[in-house]
Amino acid sequence: MKENTSRRAFISNSAKTVFAVTAGVTAASSLLESCGSSKKASGPASALKTGFTQEPLPYTYSSLDRSIDGTTMEIHYTKHAAAYAANLQDAAKSEGVDTRKPLEDVLGRISKFSAKMRNNGGGHYNHELFWKSLSPSGGGKPEGTKLMAAIESSFSSFDSFKTQFSDAGKNRFGSGWAWLFLDGDKKLRIGSTPNQDNPLMDVSEIKGLPVLGLDVWEHAYYLRYQNKRADYINAWWNVVNWGYIQNRYETQL
Ligand code: MN
Repeated sequence: MKENTSRRAFISNSAKTVFAVTAGVTAASSLLESCGSSKKASGPASALKTGFTQEPLPYTYSSLDRSIDGTTMEIHYTKHAAAYAANLQDAAKSEGVDTRKPLEDVLGRISKFSAKMRNNGGGHYNHELFWKSLSPSGGGKPEGTKLMAAIESSFSSFDSFKTQFSDAGKNRFGSGWAWLFLDGDKKLRIGSTPNQDNPLMDVSEIKGLPVLGLDVWEHAYYLRYQNKRADYINAWWNVVNWGYIQNRYETQL
């Protein structure tokens, strides 16, 4: 009997030790993550970092045609976005930026660099995010995800979120972007920025980690929608790649 009792005590203590070790590892991981993704050498967040060159478009120019026509996509990617990337590389060279490091490192202290770096660094970052945020099989809702729960908690419903985000895009005067982003408390927020600014920039009025960005420059929609920006925004929802957006959100939590 005595042997059984001590054996049970041993098993019980071992279980406690395993639990304590597991809890310790979990706490250490959370601590690492709370230090910010930019300080991590590897891990899921590094997959979200942006380089200084254009990545291939993950679909064909015409495959988003139900919302954005192929000619607009082709000009947007091969002319506008390509120019931002080229001008960014040019600025990085003349301002001594190490292009092997993530672009995010530069954007966070963009006030220390030229207007050329700000315009083209933002332009390149924003478009790289924009292409990945869209998909020929996009649209709908991120049903049953942590992102959906957070959207409903922050904006009361998915429809209300869509309205508020659309309004941010419609009401941005002139050229700019509408954003869904995570603020310093990891709360979802909606806002907009002028030109090619974004919430990563130290000069931005809204600050945080971009989750979803909508390009409301006329070059993004003028061929099909002309002056009707609201129609472009309504159609854009039908190609949003929620799988990618949800992954971005969860990785940055
Ligand atoms: Mn654009």
